[in-house]
Amino acid sequence: MSKSNFMLRELAIPKGMTTFIGSPCRVCSNKVRRVSENTPCVECDRRRAREYRAKNKDACNARSKQWMIDNHEYRIAYQKSRRVSSVA
Ligand SMILES: [Zn+2]
Repeated sequence: MSKSNFMLRELAIPKGMTTFIGSPCRVCSNKVRRVSENTPCVECDRRRAREYRAKNKDACNARSKQWMIDNHEYRIAYQKSRRVSSVA
């Protein structure tokens, strides 16, 4: 991460922002970067996640299935809260 990105990131964090506009990505020249992670940019991060999922389909499916079992109550509560807020 360059010095200017570090500065911009430090400005974005107190505002509660999850992304900030930094210098263009070396790979895809997208300027939107994530505050929380030291990733190239949000586009590259997304692409990397997609590639990872494609390569590790079974492991990812198993993990999300297990997550759904482990967090059943949470999911119900979340879906309820979503429904309420979409009506309001
Ligand atoms: Zn990129």
